[in-house]
Amino acid sequence: MSIDDEVPRDLFINGAWTPAGAAFEVTDPATGRVIASVADATGQDAIRALDAAAGAQKAWAAIAPRIRADILRHAFELMSRDAESLARLATAETGRPLAESRAEVAYAADFLRWFAEEAVRIGGDFRTAPSGDHRILTARQPVGPCYLITPWNFPLAMVTRKVGPALAAGCTMVVKPAEQTPLCALALAALLAEAGVPDGVVNVVPTLSPAEVTTALLGDGRLRKLSFTGSTEVGRRLLAQSADGVLRTSMELGGNAPFLVFDDADVDEAVNGAVLAKMRNAGQSCVAANRFLVHEAVADAFTQGLADRLAALRSGVGTDPDSQVGPLVDTAARDRIEGLVADAERRGAKVIVGGRPLPGPGYFFPPTVLTGVPEDAPLVTQEIFGPVAPITTYPGEESMVTAANATSAGLVAFAYTRDLDRALRVGEALETGMVGLNRGLVSNAAAPFGGIKQSGLGREGGFEGIEEYLEVKYLALQG
Ligand code: NAD
Repeated sequence: MSIDDEVPRDLFINGAWTPAGAAFEVTDPATGRVIASVADATGQDAIRALDAAAGAQKAWAAIAPRIRADILRHAFELMSRDAESLARLATAETGRPLAESRAEVAYAADFLRWFAEEAVRIGGDFRTAPSGDHRILTARQPVGPCYLITPWNFPLAMVTRKVGPALAAGCTMVVKPAEQTPLCALALAALLAEAGVPDGVVNVVPTLSPAEVTTALLGDGRLRKLSFTGSTEVGRRLLAQSADGVLRTSMELGGNAPFLVFDDADVDEAVNGAVLAKMRNAGQSCVAANRFLVHEAVADAFTQGLADRLAALRSGVGTDPDSQVGPLVDTAARDRIEGLVADAERRGAKVIVGGRPLPGPGYFFPPTVLTGVPEDAPLVTQEIFGPVAPITTYPGEESMVTAANATSAGLVAFAYTRDLDRALRVGEALETGMVGLNRGLVSNAAAPFGGIKQSGLGREGGFEGIEEYLEVKYLALQG
């Protein structure tokens, strides 16, 4: 699959590649160059996609779970077969190093494998009513046609994390990928069709007008569910819009992850974890460590260790095997991060490494470490979404946990300590959906991924992920 020829660029509706009336351009953020022109769906196109999904729903729900599982397993195998070309495609539209894209392909494919295994384990139960005069039977049924909106930062995994459980549950769907990265979603549509997903079950509508397409779909009574991954700001708006149709919703929104290093931490391990938690996708990950809360006793050692490691990382275009850090998504992101760093400096923070954007043509910002960042600096209170590590020091556990929880976000936190009691105590006290304990990476297809507070609703992955696409049906049986 080379970017020049084989990658589809049309809408995928009812199993057919369908041209649109207009097209939009996709750019490689590492070079600023246009790499493709992709069909631009309108609201009417989206409704045609929903026609297909609604039309396919009954038959797809009725297919034997084992067949759905086999199709998903086949799709996993096709992703493994095409791993290198998919990685190259992801690098072409995100600009990031190929090694990172290869890791994303494996992570993304894992959702198809995991949910292939879950498709045959959808259960119900049988109870005797307390009165003894009837039985209570529960079953799980697919929610129905779903609308899946995904972000640009992981253009394969964010799609499979929704499509995998939706297919396993027996739902049909319309997928709207981010406008920056539609090619990976279109390539996945081709691959799912090859794996045997019937026409109309998965439809993909890239668009430069997400609000128009979304308004059309959310206003259609045949739609039963919205699953969104993206910013809290857009998620909040979509929740309000979903209220009219009383839609089931899943929301994977922004984070502001605290990374706590206690005085009893293994500092070398904490630095290793910090590099992983901060630098994946150049910091453009919802689970990126956003703020480093470090005990005074280990602050110098941790800061030095992190600064040395980040200073040694090489920024560059994704296809260069020596590149370790990719670009930001666009100039606006680079300007925003430059502004956050400059503001922190004005508030008294000190830049130890990095701090200024790199020259173009790509949208690069170097790995950056700052110390003495005040707790109220926007660099700390906002989601940075870039390779910047602000460090603030604290005198003890209580002040660290209080600071960690002082945010409306609640996706993930990381904590480093050698004391098991403390790890459990802090793990329970942190107000997040996920906690990495002596570990800088939490994402796993077998784990329930998701946030609390304003970071979202629901879970993706794990045993829990499929529940987002199932309704519980209760049958009361006399006797
Ligand atoms: P975004 O909210 O701008 O865009 C996400 C998606 O929403 C895109 O497909 C976009 O086209 C669509 N969209 C934008 N405006 C819309 C509207 N008015 N109506 C309908 N759809 C609309 O976010 P982004 O910049 O692409 O992604 C970055 C954000 O996503 C960060 O906040 C990050 O933390 C979050 N994120 C969260 C998770 C998670 O699992 N919690 C994972 C990845 C990214």
